Amino acid sequence: MIRLELAGPHTRLASTLCAACPQGRAGCCAAPPAVAWADVARIAHLGGIEWILDEIQVGRLRPIPRGLAILRVEPTLDEAGAWPARCVYLGAVGCTISYDRRSATCNYYLCDDAFEREGLGEGAHGGAREAQDALAGLYGRWDLELQARASERCPEGPPWDTSFLEWLGREYARLVRGSRRAIRRLAPAGIDSSALTARRRANMAR
Ligand code: SF4
Repeated sequence: MIRLELAGPHTRLASTLCAACPQGRAGCCAAPPAVAWADVARIAHLGGIEWILDEIQVGRLRPIPRGLAILRVEPTLDEAGAWPARCVYLGAVGCTISYDRRSATCNYYLCDDAFEREGLGEGAHGGAREAQDALAGLYGRWDLELQARASERCPEGPPWDTSFLEWLGREYARLVRGSRRAIRRLAPAGIDSSALTARRRANMAR
């Protein structure tokens, strides 16, 4: 079952298949996405400036031209078996950081296996696919715009300090305001209930 939680630019998708990922224990977290410019800006906007600076300081996030890269940790063994190399934030029972500190991709991305194997087909999951495509488009565009603005503001390279991140957070808010029409389709009132479990549909109807 695919779950879709519409929340504008913070929309989340999840699939029951993730718990038994055919790619192995780490699933897609074996290859964490970049915390790209729009993700860094989103985290800053949501109050995570200190967290970003701390994570850079300890080396779990590393500046790259696209924004920040997440550290991958080496393969290990535990009592349940082998772990592959994976995102530093992946713990034994899933992601250890909150949704407002993750790359947006971590929140909205589902692989084709999840869409195809969950049984109900493209029509039933149209809302989920549509939300994923809309978010990929928005964040892709925001990344490019923020990267250009950051280069213009800091031609010597971003200083990665509080004032730079505060600026990025404000730029994110401005981009979100400028994308109101696209984001309206991701508002909770537009939830495609066919992509939700019966229990969640019942809860929402209360
Ligand atoms: S941040 Fe969390 S969801 Fe994203 S790749 Fe890492 S462990 Fe997975």
